[in-house]
Parts: sequence; structure tokens; C-alpha cells
Amino acid sequence: MAFKGKSKNSKGNRVSNIPVNKNMTKNDYNKVNDGVFVYTGAISVAQLSKELNVPATNIIKFLFLKGKMVTLNQTLDDDLIGEVCLEFGYDFKKEKIVSEENFEDLEIVDDAKNLKERPPIVTIMGHVDHGKTTLIDTIRNSNIVATEAGAITQAIGAYQKEIKGKKITFIDTPGHEAFTQMRSRGASVTDIVIIVVAADDGVMPQTREAIDHANAAKVPIIIAINKIDKPGADSERVKQELMALNIVAEEYGGDTIFCEISAKKNIGIEELLENVLALAEMQELKANPNRYAMGTVLEAKLDKGEGAKATLLVQNGTLNTGDYVVVGAAYGRVRRMTNEYRAELKIAGPSTPVAIIGLTEVPVAGDKFMAFPTEKQAREIAEKRKLAKTKEELKSSNVPTTLEGFFEQIKEGEIQELPVIIRADNQGSAEAVKGALLNIQVEGIRINVLRATAGAITETDVLLASTSGAIIFGFNIRPDANVRKKAEEEKVEIRLHTIIYHLTEEVEAAMKGMLKPTYREQILGQAEIRKVISASKIGKIAGCMVINGVIKRDASCRLIRDGVVVYEGKINSLKRFQNDAKEVAENFECGLTIENFNDIKEGDIVEAYEMVEVKQ
Ligand code: GDP
Repeated sequence: MAFKGKSKNSKGNRVSNIPVNKNMTKNDYNKVNDGVFVYTGAISVAQLSKELNVPATNIIKFLFLKGKMVTLNQTLDDDLIGEVCLEFGYDFKKEKIVSEENFEDLEIVDDAKNLKERPPIVTIMGHVDHGKTTLIDTIRNSNIVATEAGAITQAIGAYQKEIKGKKITFIDTPGHEAFTQMRSRGASVTDIVIIVVAADDGVMPQTREAIDHANAAKVPIIIAINKIDKPGADSERVKQELMALNIVAEEYGGDTIFCEISAKKNIGIEELLENVLALAEMQELKANPNRYAMGTVLEAKLDKGEGAKATLLVQNGTLNTGDYVVVGAAYGRVRRMTNEYRAELKIAGPSTPVAIIGLTEVPVAGDKFMAFPTEKQAREIAEKRKLAKTKEELKSSNVPTTLEGFFEQIKEGEIQELPVIIRADNQGSAEAVKGALLNIQVEGIRINVLRATAGAITETDVLLASTSGAIIFGFNIRPDANVRKKAEEEKVEIRLHTIIYHLTEEVEAAMKGMLKPTYREQILGQAEIRKVISASKIGKIAGCMVINGVIKRDASCRLIRDGVVVYEGKINSLKRFQNDAKEVAENFECGLTIENFNDIKEGDIVEAYEMVEVKQ
């Protein structure tokens, strides 16, 4: 499946990589197209029957005769879907829906006119002691580009060498372990493999392994017969031995490039590199520099001074400092990019390895990365990926996210477990709430505490709750506006309490299917304290800005500091300028006092609420 990005950004007119599926939308899957049933995953007998226009009983009967008992709503795996399709005269095809969540699978197809030649990416492999490290060092240190000579290098996992005005990118880690490890993570970065064979030792077990790995990855091989300076060197023998492995030199009618070198004495290195370029030219390696970068993490570590530091190999597009990148489920802003000579780069085009800092987490080598023009995009995509990951981990089915919904499902016998997330003002109370909840004994149902931690409720909590069907209990804390909005979007219920037994009572009632809330609190609005004014008679007056909703005189209120409820009480007086006010709306200033409470600070939030009756 191919996607084309769409132009988004003016900065260098790079094209965004966000997958935009031109051909099919989600609704186009699980449908018959031209006699082919295109599907994306497990599908039920009922659904398949509908799409193939075959009575479900026929499908069930057919599978029954094959020895498979299935019911109408049972989902079928790939094999069964295939068998059913063929039986009823359809071809079938499984497609993967590629989206931001799994951009690893995204196959970018660039218009030929946007493609530019890019440097080949080379990995050096071979048997131990045959000279891989020496070759890497010799190439790195050879003064092919005079200006780079004498520069202090840093090991970033890869480096570039320029020869005859063209660049070659070398992956630093020799040996096939790193290569295979990358491949096992689905990353293919190498265009050409140089296999080093010592002329005095010949083909050895790891030579064979290296060949197998290169073949498996369908990457062309160049053979570097090394140590030709040694007295016992016998290049012909090496060629004969390799012939037995189907690696045939051009002079013997084959198509593999052989170079005779001495890595130690710097003989034949330039010819080797020229051959790499020649092979690269034949491969027509190209990329589109005018799109946002995408590629693979080669190395990553936590640097004491600089935080997460990763070497990214740009495989397509161009990476700029200031770009936002998503790696795995983490994201960050490229704060600084350096090359292997510690030189700072502002841009890194295709095939360039760069060490970057600015990621929030240390990624794993082999992870794919993708750059985005805005932080919002990167954050949203990272969140989606985190969510997809959590979903994958939880593999949860359809469960309710409200307490009422929960007991509905208990009644229907659909669930036996109530997943909850607990947030409290400190770890001690989080544990206390957890303990109290786990103590509730209702036959047939148990409480599953997914998380019980101190601190404000976060958007991640909401996402976790949404994927696992959990209810969030906040104890002595209040969610901020963003979190509340997210919870609304995700239809996650947040229940807030300041007294443990109220909380446990409520849960127990729900578990017994007796939850009958008659009153429920309704938040009126929030005001932020901008200034604290001391008045000798009255005490402390909070000079506020109403940041959302309205604040009403005589409403119940709570004082929130850093997401934690510090006090619960009532609003005592409310003024607009010098005049008493009944209510003050959003974006207006007001002065207020809280009954019997003076310990207010700038930055505190006053949240006003009312209790409203809930109709049964
Ligand atoms: P690796 O295990 O494949 O990385 O091999 P090394 O690069 O560590 O080399 C193993 C040994 O062979 C070292 O002692 C090198 O100095 C030596 N060596 C590597 N290349 C050459 C060469 O071209 N000629 C000679 N004489 N020795 C070499």
C-alpha cells in the first residue's frame, strides 16, 4: 500500500509524512472489491456472510464439514477466512491499515521527479580478526577529505566519508549481530554489505553467516579480501572458497565485486570505496530531500549532561534542527544535531547519520523515527502510539467506563471485574484508597487496581482508563480543564472524593448494582487567584480572574493548589470592583473570600460547584 504525503510546511517546503491514504479509507476494508475480499484482521462469520453475500448457515456448514465448529458471532482467523472465500468463489487479500500509530509500516512513494541521488549506506561484516575494525578505522581516518583531517571524532554509530565528491555512509558496528538485531526489529538500513575475508585465513564460519545475513536481507555484497600484505596471503584460494558459496567474482563470470586490500597498510581502500559508489549507482539509491525526515535510530544512550542522545539515520527526507520527532512512543524537539566530527548541523539530508539531543526518552536502536513540523502533531501522534501500545498490552475488550455502565454490565453478567485508577494527593492516601477498595467483598466481582499513585490526574490516566474500561477515582485532588475535556472526549468517568468511606460506599453500591446517585456535583467554573489582598477586617481577599465557567456567590467551592484540593468550603463574598456581585463570568476579574479560610496563595484555583439532583 502506498501513501503520499501532503504539503504542509513552508519551511523549505518540505512535505509532511502523515499518511494520507489516497486510495482507500477504513470503510473500504472488509469488503469485496472486484471479486477479492479485502480485509484487515479477524472478522466474524456474520460479517463475512454479509460481505460475501453467502448465508451464514452455508459458511457454518462448510466449516463444520471441515471439522470446525463455529458460531455466528465467532471471529475467524486468516486461514479460515481464506478457506471460506475460496469455497464461495472469492479471492482474498489481507491489508494492513497503516496510520500514524504504526508508521513503521508506512511505505512512502515519492514522485520520481522529486527523487535525488542519496549516499549508499554500508555495513562491514566478516569473521572475527579478519580486519573489520581495522578497515572501519582506516576508512574513517584516511585523509580523503583534507578539511576533516585532525578533527576530533565522536563515536555516534555511523559516519560519512566523501570520495570524488560523493558521500558514503558507514555503519560503525561491525559484525552481523548488530545488523541482525536491527533486522529483527524490522529495520533495514543497509544498502551494501562489505564482507571482509582475510587472505591468509579464507572463508570461516562467520564469513558464511555474514553472507547468509546479507542474502536474507537481499542486500548486495562486495567482498574485500584483506591482509594481502601478509606473507601467507592467498586471494585465489579465497575466491575459490567463495565460489562454493555462490559468490562468484566477475573474472570468473559472476557478478560479485571483489577488492584486494590491506586495511592495515591502507592498500586498495580507495578502489574499494570507488567500487562501493559504482555499485550504489547501479542500485539507483534515491530519496526525496524535500520531505520531513524519517529513518532509523542507530544508537541511543542517556548522556549525563545532555539527556537522551540518539544517532538517527535519515533514510528519506531532511531533518532540521527544531523539527519535532516521534520515536517509538516518545517525542521531542531536535535541539541540536552533530555529526561524527562534533560539528553542529542545521540540516541532515538522506543517508546522513546525526547525533541529536532533545528527546524526552531514550529510544531503542532499530526504532523508526519520523519528523513533524509542529509540536502538536508530534505530541498527538506520540500519544496515539502510546495509546495503541497500551491497548496492545491490555488487549482489553469492551468494558464500561462509567460506574452506572459498569453495574448495567454486572447485571447482564458481562463483566466480573471493575478496573480502577486511583489518584490521590499523596502516596499514603493512594495506598489507603487502594486498600479500602480491595477490601470490598462482593461475590463474583473483583476490583482491579490498575494504578494507584500520588499526583494530579493526567491525560495519560484518562487514556489508560479509556483503553482498559477503568474508572478514575480522584481523592483530594481535582483534574484540570484539559484532563476533564479529555475525559469527556474519551467518555471516561472521573469520580472525585475527599472522604474514603464515601468512595468505598459508592463503589460497593455499584458492585451490588444498587448505585442510585440522587445528587451529583456540577462544576460551575474556576477562577485563578492573581493577587492576594489583605484587609484588616475581612482577612484575605482573593483577586481572581475567572478562567472558565462562572463563579457564583454562595456556591460551594474548593481551593486547589497544584492540582490538589487544599480546602473545601463556601464562597463568602463576591465582588466586581467595589460592588457585590451575584455571579462573575469567564474572563472577568473579581474579588472573593472563602468562608473561614485565609490560607490562599497566588496561582491557586478556586473551583465553584453546586449539587444538582440527578433524575433517575
Ligand atoms: P575484526 O575482529 O574483524 O574487527 O579484526 P581487527 O580489525 O581487530 O583485526 C584483527 C587483527 O588483524 C589486528 O591485529 C589487525 O592489526 C590485523 N589486521 C587487520 N587488517 C590487516 C591487514 O590488512 N594486514 C595485516 N597484516 N594485518 C591486519
